[in-house]
Amino acid sequence: MKVTLGGTGSPLPDAARAGPMTLVEAGPDADADAAAGGQGAPAGTASTGNPTRLMFDAGRGAVMRLAAAGLFPVQLDAVLLTHLHSDHICALNDVITTHWVMTLDPQHRLPIYGPRRTTEMVDGLMAMLAPDVEFRLAHHRDLEWAPQHDVVEVAPGDTFSLGDAAVTVGRTSHAPVEPSVGYRVACGGASVVIAGDGVPCDELDELCAGADAYVQTVLRPELVRAMPSKRLQDILEYHSSVADAAQTAARAGVRTLVLTHYLPQMAPGAEQEWRDIAAEHFDGEVVVGDDLTSFTLPRLASGP
Ligand SMILES: [Zn+2]
Ligand SMILES: [Zn+2]
Repeated sequence: MKVTLGGTGSPLPDAARAGPMTLVEAGPDADADAAAGGQGAPAGTASTGNPTRLMFDAGRGAVMRLAAAGLFPVQLDAVLLTHLHSDHICALNDVITTHWVMTLDPQHRLPIYGPRRTTEMVDGLMAMLAPDVEFRLAHHRDLEWAPQHDVVEVAPGDTFSLGDAAVTVGRTSHAPVEPSVGYRVACGGASVVIAGDGVPCDELDELCAGADAYVQTVLRPELVRAMPSKRLQDILEYHSSVADAAQTAARAGVRTLVLTHYLPQMAPGAEQEWRDIAAEHFDGEVVVGDDLTSFTLPRLASGP
């Protein structure tokens, strides 16, 4: 299984970091396929020898970062959303449109998983895209179908398979965002939890128990407090600090803690500082990466 941090930014604009997106490629050939440029069978097919490619959240620049990882939206097997905050979904329309215009098969659908109200959100996106869909259908003779996708609203406790990956949905705590969820992906004896945003809670500990890797969005409270914006102080209530994430990782007995969605924007060269804070609470490996940092599970090896 290969995990790529597609975007390590947050809602705060950052020239160097795209918005939240994590790519999981699950299957025996995930690494070999990535090395070959990600060319494989159509998405939605299982056990073809190609990895199952899952995009978690679709923040700012998600399609650009996906392309940099060697993939196009049409090669995704599914998009899975942790919650409906704008920074996690603002490129979903780009994923939907690009998936649509790059496929030659009307049966090639894009599954979109997300918490309650995902249908409402995607319906709204499609209303926004209606003029564009009309223009392209009028222009391309061979394009006779509108974007094809299936929205599946998930709830904590749900389990399902996507190709080679077994997915478990768990509750996260990100009030007043309700519901918000995290996903545990297991494949070939390896597992990773994509926790999204939120503060520590028992359900998150449960979802993470014994996982090989735990990807958590984090903030540094002392740096946020030093910022002049009063409104920004509100985010202290509903995000895990680096220490919180490290303590969750320690309680759950995960092997590797992966930090992302750095709040506020990480200063250049400050990675070790963030890593050191986590290391005060967690003995395992701590990954603090830029966009496109990748690693394989269960054996960790930093990618290019
Ligand atoms: Zn959020
Ligand atoms: Zn966020």
